[in-house]
Amino acid sequence: MVAEQEFDLVVVGSGTGGCGAALAGAMQGLKVAMLEKAERLGGGTACSLGGLWVPENHLLAEAGLADRMEAAREYSLFLSGGSALPENMDAYLHHARLALADFARAGVAFRLLRRLPDHYYPSAPGSSADGRMVEAVPIARRALGPWADRIEEGVYNLPGVSWGDAVAWGGLGNAADWPKEELERRKREGMLGCGGALVGQFLAQLLARGVSIRAGFRAERLLVENGRVCGIAGTQQGRVLALRARRGVVLATGGYEGNDALVKRFEGLPDWMSIFPPGVEGDGLVMGSEIGAATYKVPNNLAMLVGYAIPAPAPPREWQFFSASVRGLSYPHSILVNDRAGRFCDESQFQHVVAALTRFDLAAHRYPNLPCWMLFDAQYARRYSFAARPLGAPIPDWVTRADSLTALARAIGLAPDALAETVARFNAGAERGEDPEFGRGSSAFARSTAGDPKARHPNLGALAEPPFHAVRVKIGGISAAGLLTDEVARVRHVRGPAIPGLYACGNAAAPTESGAGYQAGVSLMRGLTFGWLAARHAAGADAETAA
Ligand SMILES: Cc1cc2nc3c(=O)[nH]c(=O)nc-3n(C[C@H](O)[C@H](O)[C@H](O)COP(=O)(O)OP(=O)(O)OC[C@H]3O[C@@H](n4cnc5c(N)ncnc54)[C@H](O)[C@@H]3O)c2cc1C
Repeated sequence: MVAEQEFDLVVVGSGTGGCGAALAGAMQGLKVAMLEKAERLGGGTACSLGGLWVPENHLLAEAGLADRMEAAREYSLFLSGGSALPENMDAYLHHARLALADFARAGVAFRLLRRLPDHYYPSAPGSSADGRMVEAVPIARRALGPWADRIEEGVYNLPGVSWGDAVAWGGLGNAADWPKEELERRKREGMLGCGGALVGQFLAQLLARGVSIRAGFRAERLLVENGRVCGIAGTQQGRVLALRARRGVVLATGGYEGNDALVKRFEGLPDWMSIFPPGVEGDGLVMGSEIGAATYKVPNNLAMLVGYAIPAPAPPREWQFFSASVRGLSYPHSILVNDRAGRFCDESQFQHVVAALTRFDLAAHRYPNLPCWMLFDAQYARRYSFAARPLGAPIPDWVTRADSLTALARAIGLAPDALAETVARFNAGAERGEDPEFGRGSSAFARSTAGDPKARHPNLGALAEPPFHAVRVKIGGISAAGLLTDEVARVRHVRGPAIPGLYACGNAAAPTESGAGYQAGVSLMRGLTFGWLAARHAAGADAETAA
């Protein structure tokens, strides 16, 4: 039995792409439905750090900072490594700030995330030290009515703490000194921070505008009439439903990170783990491909995080990815080693780690730095939160532990002499506050992610105090491939033209505006920007009228 319901715009997915498209549609007066397959809203977005990269945004101007679009363009070109589509990159650069200002006018509370430099500051042309990063203001769950306790939660973020708070309080590594009363207050009041705040802020506005929000609705198939996408069919609580969409369908289903077959087909990397909730498994890519949509894959994808596996709190997964990219890898008293027990890169910049892990060695015909382990000593265990556990909590049993480096090397199958030599070399430099081999801790971005004011150096400290620990490193990627979209987020057909009525944004769309490179904040903001463009296009509104 198929129940029919009619909307102007049907948005599939409730992460940044879905929230952006749904709110922009509602702001245009469209009757909007936002569908979410999971029982909780927010997808990977709610589990993220919530940073948005927005050049020349209105908040930086209000704070008396300056930016130049031409500089942002130079930086974006550098990041792209030549694999972005120029018209889509221009669309992002031009419209990200317009979308941000428009959403802010609609009531979404944003603020600048101060003192977080671009990843490649100052080594890339056009990079910026401050002002391009924005985040949602923490919001109380009670503002979300029936959804208050139905927001997806990651394993990383403390209740109500935003990334900006962490930076202002001395850095993600400085949790021991964060203001305890304020943390307690935010927990008591049920505040959402980071990506949860982003989803919460949008959700509050969607509810205020009467958007129909359906959790537990799995979209399965696009409905097409006379070559135009006119709705979606799916299931909710065992019922087959068809939702008609007069103006269009926006696929904002995220990437395919949880779909082993698609990961193998498009990424092909060993030691890969999904960084997103299990429902992010390529449904948009499949539904679009089924009706002839073109796909696109950026080569040399750097949009990846580095971490390790931790036990999952609930099925269906046994283990889940924990990103140590900006919390863990860059802290003192730790290093990464490959199976020759050698260091191979500056661990304090996860982008460098990603490039080194994904490099293929022609002579050996293998990935020379996979497998890889993160090693740390007792000082690290004492001073920093491991895998977001409370400070001082014992390092869990699933981490390999030994009383000497020799025993640790044996336990993980490395040559003890080689490891001893590597650690001795690293320690000698660390004692002098330098890393002559790889320059660990020399970038402004690395220093901003470590931020332990009490440490002698924010990123360097010897591995000297037993017990020593080792954890196998995993790569958690953001899809390199997705549906091919144009500058207003319309999905292109394999034969070229846009498919009428079909849009895609967020990671369901290929990262054609950013290409190979990764800058924190682009991933979330591309969802909001192209979601905004998609809904406005579907409504027949000119994007420039929002300026
Ligand atoms: C630890 C961590 C920190 C991060 N920090 C940042 C950051 O600070 N800045 C940044 O820019 N990026 C960050 N990212 C990356 C960013 O979170 C993601 O790239 C982004 O959230 C993707 O948004 P999305 O809307 O495409 O997908 P998602 O947010 O994952 O949403 C997709 C939703 O669609 C639903 N869905 C899928 N299929 C269906 C279906 N068939 N029917 C109905 N619903 C469906 C899914 O269940 C999911 O809820 C971070 C990622 C991680 C893991």
